[in-house]
Amino acid sequence: MLNELNKTEKQDAASAECGRGMLIVVSSPSGGGKGTLIDRVLQTVPGVSYSVSYTTRAPRGAEQDGREYFFVSTVTFEGLIRQGEYLEWADVYGHLYGTSKAQVERERAAGKDIILEIDVQGAASIRELIDDAVSIFILPPSFELLRNRLAARGTDSPTDLERRLRGAPLEVEQYRYFQYVILNDDINRASAQLASVIYAERARRERQEIRLKETLADFASLLES
Ligand code: 5GP
Repeated sequence: MLNELNKTEKQDAASAECGRGMLIVVSSPSGGGKGTLIDRVLQTVPGVSYSVSYTTRAPRGAEQDGREYFFVSTVTFEGLIRQGEYLEWADVYGHLYGTSKAQVERERAAGKDIILEIDVQGAASIRELIDDAVSIFILPPSFELLRNRLAARGTDSPTDLERRLRGAPLEVEQYRYFQYVILNDDINRASAQLASVIYAERARRERQEIRLKETLADFASLLES
């Protein structure tokens, strides 16, 4: 479900871009292994943080409140929608998930790039909202492997597992709307590729014109004299 974004919100988001950390959206079908990839990048690429979403689903395995997610009730989640706490939110396989606007703002204002590990609906909302967001789709090598990974995780109920597997082809079909696609067939190669995308995006001229304003102005001043 796409958020209803009014024009003012869009303008606020667009004008808030200058000189701040990048917003990096990473999506893949559930069980696509993006969590491991993202953990690698968080450990190896300096200046990147992770957006901890809110969710109404119950914690799985060793998940901790405030680390993987903020686990909240549906009533609390809906209250936060009304308070405008979310940059985007969506119903994913029967549970609600939302990105904290305040957290994203805080990290970006501190000059940090922030990774949003969100589903394809959330990615579409962010594309609408933030023009220069970087979007990356992580593609599992095969449906078979995805099924095995999800089953091996052993944390989903049979109904949840079935739902997620049935949804996977539709999620993969959305790859075409992302700027980058990374095949997750080898964790070392795929995490190196994810890190490379971040480094390359940081070096984009449009971003450097803001970050390196003073250096560029220094040279430009010599042209004037
Ligand atoms: P899981 O329950 O497996 O942790 O996550 C299910 C799906 O919800 C995954 O595709 C995950 O990326 C997505 N998700 C997690 N947090 C958010 C969020 O804040 N917003 C949206 N739209 N999706 C999210």
